Amino acid sequence: MADLEIKIIKLEKKGIRYAGGKKDMCRECYVNESRITPLLGARECLENHTQYICGTCGRCICIQRDEKRGLQRWNFPFKSLEIARLYLRTADYTVKRPCGIYEMKNSKGRVSYKIFACSEDFQDYLRKNRDKEATQAEPLFTAGRFVEYPDTEVRRLTSDEVENYLSERRQPD
Ligand SMILES: [Zn+2]
Ligand SMILES: [Zn+2]
Repeated sequence: MADLEIKIIKLEKKGIRYAGGKKDMCRECYVNESRITPLLGARECLENHTQYICGTCGRCICIQRDEKRGLQRWNFPFKSLEIARLYLRTADYTVKRPCGIYEMKNSKGRVSYKIFACSEDFQDYLRKNRDKEATQAEPLFTAGRFVEYPDTEVRRLTSDEVENYLSERRQPD
């Protein structure tokens, strides 16, 4: 634990928000709203796509790879840091390391967010996308370390599970 604490202090000094720092946040998937995903087309996604089922809070996160390029939702840009955070766990789980959410802006000044396994990958992306630049070199958010949880499942839901999950979403908090 001492190593972890040192790492947290280092991250905080760099202005990085550390996932383990918030008490109400699911320690496994870094979000405190356990039914917030899928954001759009929930039924279609739950019925047809492989889900990361959080073993801790039960949240389903789309982890489906597209057939053409093998990309998952977390590989694409996000409009906000908060939305990117909803998918960060699928990135961590896929690459088996703590990924980071990086902020960039395009030539028109529009800000977007993208998840990368490490800052080298981020720099690589910027080299290939000359219209974008980093607002800072370090990630805005990272779990800081990668942990596997024993109750995690990655699979399609059964039709009963889809109905259950959707009904739980409709209930007020
Ligand atoms: Zn999906
Ligand atoms: Zn969770």
